[in-house]
Order: sequence, then structure tokens, then C-alpha cells
Amino acid sequence: MNFTIQNVLIATNDAYTTTDVQVVAGKISAIASNLDVVGTAVNGENKLLLPGFVNAHTHSSEMWQRGIMSVLPLELWLAELYDFAPLDTEKVYLSALGTAVETLLSGGTSVVDHLVLIPGQELETIATAVRAYREIGIRAFIAPLIQDESLTAGIPSGETERNHEPYFRSTADTLAIIEEAVRQFHRPEEGVNILVAPTGIQLCSDALFTGCIELSDRYNLCRHSHLLETKAQEKLAQEKYGCSAVEHLKRLGYLSDRTSLAHCVWLNDIDIEILAATQSTVVHNPLSNLRLGSGIAPILKYRQAGVNVTFGCDGASSNDSQDLLEAIKIGSILHNTTDRDYQHWITPRQSVEMAALGGAKALNMVDKIGSLTVGKQADLVLYDLTSLSLLPRTDPIGLLVLGRPTNAVDSAWVNGKQIVVAGKVNSINVDELRQKLFQRSQWDTQRKSQTVAEIEAHYRTVMGL
Ligand SMILES: [Zn+2]
Repeated sequence: MNFTIQNVLIATNDAYTTTDVQVVAGKISAIASNLDVVGTAVNGENKLLLPGFVNAHTHSSEMWQRGIMSVLPLELWLAELYDFAPLDTEKVYLSALGTAVETLLSGGTSVVDHLVLIPGQELETIATAVRAYREIGIRAFIAPLIQDESLTAGIPSGETERNHEPYFRSTADTLAIIEEAVRQFHRPEEGVNILVAPTGIQLCSDALFTGCIELSDRYNLCRHSHLLETKAQEKLAQEKYGCSAVEHLKRLGYLSDRTSLAHCVWLNDIDIEILAATQSTVVHNPLSNLRLGSGIAPILKYRQAGVNVTFGCDGASSNDSQDLLEAIKIGSILHNTTDRDYQHWITPRQSVEMAALGGAKALNMVDKIGSLTVGKQADLVLYDLTSLSLLPRTDPIGLLVLGRPTNAVDSAWVNGKQIVVAGKVNSINVDELRQKLFQRSQWDTQRKSQTVAEIEAHYRTVMGL
């Protein structure tokens, strides 16, 4: 699938230039004016070409509960989420497709799906997500969400003596599932990657983290996890380890240049130094942090310390969308309120670099994706600069990041394969997807979570509410 995009606008260091971009065998083979047309000619006039962004943290099956989750902080919200989590693989399939479509139409060409597994059907769940992502053609980083402690263990004990039910599956069995998933599905050269992804210190033992490190080393897998999303988790880490969660993860050896950590709201200055020294990546999920009242992550501090930062939508139950451009916008301007020195604020061009190259770094793919560079894979997005939301003509990247782009993505390619054409995903039937999402759901306003009712009193006590 060779093609040549002609007369397209691309960003240079501090300006723009009109040029041609040639793609041969899935890779960018030349960027220059007046290139010979190789393969199909693509008209790039009045369009902006950017590297595809990475939706670096989401949970696809949360799509089924977007818009309905109660207004609750994470620990209680999770209890409600799991009371109503979808338990059939057809739903997993449809929400993976839905997540991919919304990511593609908001500038993303890669997705990190911290995939919630159906108990007893773990490998089937992973196989289903793999099937969906292969069909649609987005670059997929499937991070099966694992834990080995039950939900109540994720809430600090405070003064109380608390016992938690053992988790229904052993640590060894969980690790065996991940290893089998790697054998069956990890095919980086085909755009399907498996990550090790313990959900976080709040629900995982040291043995689970250590087992994941071993798998990561043996199979060259990236590592993912939630980290210090809430104040409660900061408290819990002190109870569990007598030190910060970051110090503990460092001691275990989990932090590395292929480790990405979602949220990172409650880190102290020493923690930030540790992330910088270990070259770990922070995945910033601003909308989720706002929706769940988790806090404002100290993103400007991370950037000043040299920590790589990229963006994620987080699952659609805490967002309640998968619009990557929206996450990038809020995740950039939010921090202007946290530091009076405007020279530290994030510029639109920096936002784009964080979303593309920052995401590539998070996934150990910096030599393969994340920038318009000859030799890199053609994971590309073409924006229509005649879209009403990007007019009148000023600074294209400013309009894209600071504005509210609608129908702005004209085309997208992953590994040189075009999967968005004229503003529509063409690798799957999106109308059929819409119908199925409609048919398999219903309007609902009355549901109540039993588990929230059981644990809310303790949560309020321990959090001093
Ligand atoms: Zn998450």
C-alpha cells in the first residue's frame, strides 16, 4: 500500500511548510516538495498532516456505563462499576470497536486498552479485544487488567481492623493467563501488543508485580499500571509499605523506560525524581481526574523534572467519552492555574509532541512511531483545515489543540494502511456498530449499587468525611 500525499501542510520547528510525503511498504520513505507520485496520489491541499496520537490509557468496556455512573470518588465509583460490568464477550467486542472509532476520529492511531477481564473467560476476553482491534486496524496495546486482592483491600483501613476476602484467582494462575496471552496474541510487527498491567499497588501483591517484571523481561513487554490516582491510595501505600508507592515500586524494580503509569496525581518531589531517574512515563488523564475528584496531577512539575508525559482518555465511565483531542486540550490548559509562571505552561505544539512522541516513548516505540520522520511507520492523521471548527485560518495546531474540533479528521493511516477515509472509519461498518450498541443497551436512571451501600460508611470514616 504505497501512496504519496501531495501539497500537504506539515509543522516545522516553529512554522509550517507545504510538502509531499511518500509512504512505501508502511513506512515514510520521503518528505520533500515535488516528489514523484509513488502508488496512490492523495490530495493534501488545505490539510494538516500530523503523526497519530496515542490514547495511552483507557478501559474499552467502560463504554457500556458511560453517562450513568454516580457522582462518586474512585474507590466507591469502582464498586459501582464492577457491580454492573459487562460479562459477555460480544459486549467486549463492540466496546473495543467503539473505543477505537472514537480514538481514530479524534487524532489517535494507537490505543492502550487496560482491558477489564471477564472472570473465568480471561483469555476469551483478550482474544475478543484482539479480534476487534485487528478488524478495525488501530495499533493496539492490550494491557489485561490484573489484580490479586479483592476490592475492599483498595481502601485504607485507618484505625479499624479489617479482613478482606481472598481474591478468587491465585497470583500464579493470573500470571499464567498473561503468559498464555503473550504466546497467543503478542505480535508487535502486526500491530498487536500485550503489556503486563497490574491494576496498581492498591489491589496487587508484591508477588504479582514481581511476576509481571519477569514476564516483561522474558518477552520484552511494556509495563503499565495505575499509580496514586487518589488521596486514599497515597494513604494506603503508607499503611501497606510505610513509604510512598513510587519508592516501593522502584524497590521492586517495576519502574523503567518502558513503564507507563496512569494518573500520578499524588506524587511528592522525591517520587518525581524517581520517575525521572527511571525514565518512566506519566499518562495524564485529566478528564477522569476531574470527573472522580481525584485531583490535578502536577504535570508541569513532571515536565520540568524531565519526566515523559503523554495523554489518555481513561475509560469512558469516568470521562465520559473517548475524545483524545478533548483530553489533550483540558490536560494542557488545566495546568495554567497551577503555576503563575506562564513560561512553564504547555504550548499547543508541546501538547502535540506529548500526545504523539510522548506516547511512542511510553510504549518503547520511539524509533518506530510518534513523528513525521523518514523511516518511521506511517501512523498518520490528516486534518481538514476547511472544517468549520478550524476556521477562519489562523494557526492550525492552535485551532486543533485549543479549539473544539468537530469532524476535523479527514484521513488516518496505521502502518501505511488507510482506515479513515473522508472523515469516516472504513475498515468496519460503523452504522452496524451503532445499531448493535443501541440494541444491546437501554435508557436507565434507576440502578443502585449494592457494593457501594456496603462500603460507603467505612470509606467516609477513613477519609474523614
Ligand atoms: Zn484507568
